Amino acid sequence: MKHNKISLKWKVFGYFLVFTAVMLVILWLSQTVFLAQFYEGIKMRSLRACATSVNTTSTQTDVERLAEQYDVCIRIIDTDLNDVASAQQIPNCILHTLPRLLLMGFYLSTAESGGERVTQMSYEPRKSMTSPQISVNNENDRGRTIIYTRIESEGMVMIESLISPVNATVETLRIQLGWVTGILTVLALLIAVILSRNTSRPLEKINQSAKLLAAGNYDAKFEVKGYREISELADTLNYAACELSKVEGLRRELIANISHDLRTPLTMITAYAEVMRDLPGENTPENVQVIIDEATRLTSLVNDLLEISKLGSGVQSMNAQKFNLTESLRRILHRYTKLVEQEGYTIDFQCDADAWVCADEPRIEQVAYNLINNAITYTGASKRVLIRQQIRENVVRVEICDEGEGIAEKDLPLIWERYYKVNQPHKRAQMGSGLGLSIVRGILEMHGARYGVQSVLGKGSTFWFELPLAHGLQVHEE
Ligand code: ADP
Repeated sequence: MKHNKISLKWKVFGYFLVFTAVMLVILWLSQTVFLAQFYEGIKMRSLRACATSVNTTSTQTDVERLAEQYDVCIRIIDTDLNDVASAQQIPNCILHTLPRLLLMGFYLSTAESGGERVTQMSYEPRKSMTSPQISVNNENDRGRTIIYTRIESEGMVMIESLISPVNATVETLRIQLGWVTGILTVLALLIAVILSRNTSRPLEKINQSAKLLAAGNYDAKFEVKGYREISELADTLNYAACELSKVEGLRRELIANISHDLRTPLTMITAYAEVMRDLPGENTPENVQVIIDEATRLTSLVNDLLEISKLGSGVQSMNAQKFNLTESLRRILHRYTKLVEQEGYTIDFQCDADAWVCADEPRIEQVAYNLINNAITYTGASKRVLIRQQIRENVVRVEICDEGEGIAEKDLPLIWERYYKVNQPHKRAQMGSGLGLSIVRGILEMHGARYGVQSVLGKGSTFWFELPLAHGLQVHEE
């Protein structure tokens, strides 16, 4: 599949650059374009604040204090235009150089505007330091001043605030900002490259390994360091790869085992049948028995395989019914009568009482059968096997004990695995498929039953399982 999407690297890179650009634009606008406006706004506000604190009755001390506080010039005149109080904070201010005529003009224009007025003026302080030339037009390259006037009953309050030309400042800032922009852009580019690399590199690596994994290479390793989320993803994928390789190994082993187990009896059957066909003297009941035995073995192997696949797939539902477990055990043991008589085996059955359980009867019988079969197969020269059934409170415990070689401790957890055979040359053991105990485990786990094995090397093994007694149905027959 081809995705024509922008890669993560470029996206992170792009976002970062956009972020930097926006930051720079905001910086430029606030520091250059709107700087004069901000400054004027602040000045105007402080002028008005000062105006509310001052009136025609303010004393000279008050006026001086306020002028210093707000950095303004204050002049209070009476109705005859004579000074009442005055404070000059700004050198060369207009307010204190106003000729009487202009003072009059201010008075009249303020009165015309309803008693309060703000006049903006520009002047060129450099031309004459002592008396600045006044012009009411404000031009950007000149110094500007704001004059606030208010008429009260005793006279007029005049306040002047200087608006220093910001052009020079703006120019300085612009040069500074040029540098800042350059440096920031380079830095942003660097950080964006590092950031996008650090995020996308490990992901690209993971992707490469994942492609290998998808192609069936289960040895693919996800080795990524860096961000926590990415290394967690790598760990998860490593785990998945490991599990997949286990499953794959099991599948291969299973196929190898099954084909081997199926081939051996088939080879025997074909060989014996061919011998019997070609050599009339070989047509003996013994040879026929070999064929029958091998065919039976094949059948049981196929049955085992079916059973195990049903148990493994989990589709098989359990058909639990109440039945007499003790009776079932007796029935199974009856099958071994011939073995006991002909081969000298001793199979003892001890039980305290008949136990009724609620379980899948054919399956539990298979469990008992597999365990007894194993006990007979692996019991030693004593040829003794003991089956013990005990009722303990609410459960019935069945133990199958043999006096064989026992199982090494390291093998104990493994014998329940599918196809596991303890590597031990044993005449009868060669017959086993390695599926028996795996079926036992599957069935008992399906029942939620407890089971286990105790074994002492050289002394024998005891396989056991416990089933809960069917409520109220523990019947003592005899
Ligand atoms: P198998 O068909 O080979 O008997 P099982 O699944 O029944 O397969 O058993 C797995 C392995 O466990 C056997 O190959 C054997 O080595 C070991 N085992 C099972 N039962 C006994 C026992 N009673 N005594 C000793 N070893 C046993």
